[in-house]
Amino acid sequence: MKCIGGSPSKRRRTLPETRKKISEALRGRKFSAEHREKMSEALRGRKLSAEHREKMSEAHKGKKLSTEHRRKISEAHRGKKFSAEHRRKLSKAKQGHKISPENRQKIRAAWESKRKRGDIRRGHMATYWKGGRSNRGGYVIVLKPGHPGGDAQGYVYEQRLVMEKHLGRLLGLREVVHHINGNRVDNRIENLMLFPSFVEHLAYHREQRKKLT
Ligand SMILES: [Zn+2]
Repeated sequence: MKCIGGSPSKRRRTLPETRKKISEALRGRKFSAEHREKMSEALRGRKLSAEHREKMSEAHKGKKLSTEHRRKISEAHRGKKFSAEHRRKLSKAKQGHKISPENRQKIRAAWESKRKRGDIRRGHMATYWKGGRSNRGGYVIVLKPGHPGGDAQGYVYEQRLVMEKHLGRLLGLREVVHHINGNRVDNRIENLMLFPSFVEHLAYHREQRKKLT
């Protein structure tokens, strides 16, 4: 077959009349997964004109998304980092948006149930969020909500988590993990030693001191 037509880079212009017909024909039609994948591929990276965006926004206004659709969007966005510029735009778009008391209640309830499931880690939304790792007394602590060895805030000493992973069991509350080279942040398993309780741990330290003097 021969290929006719001009430069492939030139996007064909569709007459408004034709576009209207297409839009009417497509209304309510469900596309196959394959087709949708192709469309999304074609649109990827494409910048929409201001006019087009305005129209889309107009078309979506007042439209309620199905829970399934909303779930999909949320899944697609999960773990996605937005650029500072994009986040600024989102925040601007939300400004002046009035949330009805009813909706506010829903949002609050959703957060509350998330928190109960342990989905929301303390300080998660904060800009100083460091992935739930922190420092306490020179030791690395990690946020592990629901961990039986955690403190009131849900923090666990990292050396204990490393030892637990190594042993394949939880540590008892009396068990002590010692740092062999004395470096409290060196939590490689080869630098860790387990003692059944602080008594044995203390005895070991005394022994080491004696050896040095
Ligand atoms: Zn020690």
